[in-house]
Amino acid sequence: MLKSFLEKHKSILKESEPMCKHTTFRIGGPARYFFAPTTAEELRSVLCGALEEDLNVYPLGAGSNLLVKDNELDGAVIHLAKLHTIHIEKNLVIAGSGFPLAALINLACQHGLGGLETLAGIPSSLGGAVIMNAGGKYGCIGDSVKYVLAIDNKCGLKKLGPRELGFKYRHSEIKNEMIAEVCLELKQADPEELQRRYAGILAEKKLAQPLSQPSAGCVFKNPPNGSAGALIDNAGLKGLKKGGAMISSKHANFIVNAGGAKAADVSALIEKIKQTVFEKSRIKLELEIKVW
Ligand SMILES: Cc1cc2nc3c(=O)[nH]c(=O)nc-3n(C[C@H](O)[C@H](O)[C@H](O)COP(=O)(O)OP(=O)(O)OC[C@H]3O[C@@H](n4cnc5c(N)ncnc54)[C@H](O)[C@@H]3O)c2cc1C
Repeated sequence: MLKSFLEKHKSILKESEPMCKHTTFRIGGPARYFFAPTTAEELRSVLCGALEEDLNVYPLGAGSNLLVKDNELDGAVIHLAKLHTIHIEKNLVIAGSGFPLAALINLACQHGLGGLETLAGIPSSLGGAVIMNAGGKYGCIGDSVKYVLAIDNKCGLKKLGPRELGFKYRHSEIKNEMIAEVCLELKQADPEELQRRYAGILAEKKLAQPLSQPSAGCVFKNPPNGSAGALIDNAGLKGLKKGGAMISSKHANFIVNAGGAKAADVSALIEKIKQTVFEKSRIKLELEIKVW
């Protein structure tokens, strides 16, 4: 059975694909099976087949919020990057989940469609941004989502609106579904003003974040009414190293791959941060990044 499933999808399959090639951390061991479907139909076929084979399934967007362990990832990674159709009609944008967020923001700004420019500097896919409700102090993508088309773990196609998606801070209620397509409802605005806001937010991020080094962005969620970065900084942990991983001296909530870091190095720093912050502040930090 497994053999015929793999044979059926061999044109989009790689075996033992190094995950460090697909994460912004540049960390991660080989994935047993790595599929890159090119259409929504192909996605459904691969996903249904993988579920029938009882494989662990890992949906992968741009890999910018992931720490993938160093040993083999046993299961099927489904990379969504090639699902990048786009259709713009008035203030609605319907795009494949693999569409790169930065390109989408630029396109929306050119069309005079506002709401996404606040997400400048997030190196995400569209689907990944929805799953994480990506955003920052100026807004989150959930504010603009009209609906998503997703495939559930019984292989059914579902249309989910904001109520089912249950967006909260860096959270959506999607757990067992894979997003194939997203419909965004944006607001008419002046293209030049949108470009200005976009450039301003990007410049702000470049100053505050260690963008020249591989990372997965903020490692921890901010606790209610607090800042994870400030707690880590106050605990005196900036610049702490373990192997090739380092707590950024520019932004304490970033762990960077300073060269040859292993997932085990990052995990060790994560544990150190959790323990030290708890000892100093009695606050339990919660991971924002996903660990595979
Ligand atoms: C330099 C840097 C800056 C960042 N700044 C920000 C920021 O300002 N704000 C912010 O919110 N985040 C930020 N991030 C974190 C990250 O970019 C976001 O969380 C992003 O939305 C993750 O999207 P992705 O496509 O990379 O998802 P991935 O990292 O590939 O996946 C993240 C999770 O989503 C799941 N997933 C991905 N696509 C799908 C899909 N189509 N269907 C189902 N599940 C899916 C994965 O299985 C995984 O659990 C930053 C990261 C970096 C490296």
